[in-house]
Amino acid sequence: MQTSNQNIHPAFFFRRAPSAFASLKGDSAHPMLFGSVLFYEHPQGTLVAVELRGLPTASTPCSSPVFALHIHEGGLCSGNASDPFAQAGAHYNPQNCPHPYHAGDLPPIFSAGGQAFSAFLTDRFTVREVTGRTVILHALPDDFSTQPAGGAGRKIACGEILGRERVLAQYKSQNQSAKALLF
Ligand SMILES: [Zn+2]
Repeated sequence: MQTSNQNIHPAFFFRRAPSAFASLKGDSAHPMLFGSVLFYEHPQGTLVAVELRGLPTASTPCSSPVFALHIHEGGLCSGNASDPFAQAGAHYNPQNCPHPYHAGDLPPIFSAGGQAFSAFLTDRFTVREVTGRTVILHALPDDFSTQPAGGAGRKIACGEILGRERVLAQYKSQNQSAKALLF
């Protein structure tokens, strides 16, 4: 039997506080790239809302950028000179599936003049399962076939997925707007 929540338009859920939150920042080549990803528990799985600004823009017609987006298994947006987000690790893939059937494979991001917004419902993971992992934005589109990562190119932005408690603790004394976001 369906729960009554499944008959409610998913946008209704965005009026609630998210259960987890990732703040994305670009790498050194994309210092103006910022964004956030909000995760909401839903009877059918997880609702995800993505917002980005400062994305690379098109220089010619027919080249409006598309950026692959994935949840990676690692929990840290740190790394080394050649891969500044190496600690994010590989795509989150607890069932050992091929790409693009990894639990962490997400719809790609379409840029609108350097900004983007995307929202979707997925049953590939719960909020709890991805809290403590990372969201990675890539330089190239996801081709949904190349193994193991869709030919998505370099990692250009990363955000650590924090549960509500950690977000509140982090911003408690310095940023009231984060508190407003969560409650
Ligand atoms: Zn994948």
